Amino acid sequence: MSNHLKEINDFLSRIEKKNPNEPEFLQAVKEVAETIIPFIADKPKYIDSNILESMCEPERVFMFRIPWLDDNGRIQINRGFRVQMNSAIGPYKGGLRFHPSVNLSILKFLAFEQVFKNSLTTLPMGGGKGGADFEPKGKSDNEVMRFCQSFMTELSKYIGQFTDVPAGDIGVGGREIGYMFGQYKRIRGEFTGVLTGKGRQYGGSLIRPEATGYGCVYFSEEVLKHRGDSLEGKVCAVSGSGNVAQFAIEKLIQKEAKVVTVSDSGGCIFDKDGIDKEKLEFIKELKNVKRVRIREYAETFTGAEYHEGVTPWNIACDLAYPCATQNELPLKDAETLINNGCCGIFEGANMPATADAIELFKSKKLMFSPGKASNAGGVATSGLEMSQNALRLSWTAKEVEEKLHGIMKEIHQNCIEHADADNNYVDYVKGANIAGFVKVADAMLAQGAV
Ligand code: NDP
Repeated sequence: MSNHLKEINDFLSRIEKKNPNEPEFLQAVKEVAETIIPFIADKPKYIDSNILESMCEPERVFMFRIPWLDDNGRIQINRGFRVQMNSAIGPYKGGLRFHPSVNLSILKFLAFEQVFKNSLTTLPMGGGKGGADFEPKGKSDNEVMRFCQSFMTELSKYIGQFTDVPAGDIGVGGREIGYMFGQYKRIRGEFTGVLTGKGRQYGGSLIRPEATGYGCVYFSEEVLKHRGDSLEGKVCAVSGSGNVAQFAIEKLIQKEAKVVTVSDSGGCIFDKDGIDKEKLEFIKELKNVKRVRIREYAETFTGAEYHEGVTPWNIACDLAYPCATQNELPLKDAETLINNGCCGIFEGANMPATADAIELFKSKKLMFSPGKASNAGGVATSGLEMSQNALRLSWTAKEVEEKLHGIMKEIHQNCIEHADADNNYVDYVKGANIAGFVKVADAMLAQGAV
């Protein structure tokens, strides 16, 4: 990086000037620029066309009002967004997030990451992201339905099976996708694969719910295999207890690893005996049906401890899987993980480790995989859902999972090829960024300045 420090800093100050007050977006751009600028330095086709700067500018952004009626008969107002970042290699594709923290900076960072991630999946999908500053926690099903209907009434103007195909993300699971799909169908009068993550009964793919978590564990298995190691017997710390965390834990159990933590925004569970299948079913019921706090786990299983207001990173483990949210693993926690013997960190969430934490992992030559590689299984399987919708048929769970597994192996191989890897150390950040970049950049060049 040092050889190109000036170019990187000049580039980042231009981007910062255009996008003030967008720290998450700037963080995501910086991470990519640090590997892409040295890579393109001797490639005039990318420099002359200003391709990286072009990739930092969304093709368009929509921001809109979402009025909805609460159970007390009052009108509530939220703000909705859709960021259509890049359509060079396919229709925009990326999730919708419902969380009070949602703003333009967070959605632009997610949409930017999505462009590289979708490119890595080997499928023809551009990048986008959207959502609203809506808090589903504590709302009744009817309130969530009315909110989703109002949100989709506006969003439906900008999306479609050949233009932009949203999916779920934080706060948007099967329930919310169902309500939004119903409203889109009603408004447009057509039954199409405009959303992914749909229920099985109306066009959803088997294994889509499992895909991000399973894919992350498959990716980590490849990383370990590359070092001559395996998941068996490894003590794992997982954060979060939502979609990604639940299925990462499920696959880790299948691989005979021992998962000792799970968390939510309230605190962390430490279960020294390990989370088994039965305990995982309890977590799924807690979070997907009852929609209550993870604290209740420790009230049910003796031996498990609940630590209020903390993350899992002070628990000793061999491998860490941050599966909750961005910047949940800062430098201080990265140091603690390393001091406690952790040797591999695999991002299930998007950008969970801060930039200085990643620098530390890299300087210690630990196994570290960025979310755009290790959590790409979710969107890849969304791509498989789109294929099934287009073909008007359904693949079996076995078929979908085999394809998912194959894609994660291919992403791993692509990272290795673009990372100047040797047998001892692979810079997966570099590998993922360059592999993702080349395909999108070449497609943009082929299509001219559009
Ligand atoms: P869910 O809403 O299902 O679960 C999110 C989990 O993270 C919950 O346990 C939640 O706790 C916790 N969490 C959310 N915000 C915070 C916070 N600020 N601090 C601490 N904990 C928090 O979301 P997903 O599992 O779908 O998504 C998790 C991550 O994975 C996100 O970064 C998402 O972008 C990424 N991702 C998801 C994909 C998918 O297919 N779903 C695909 C690729 C990436 P609580 O319930 O208390 O809020």
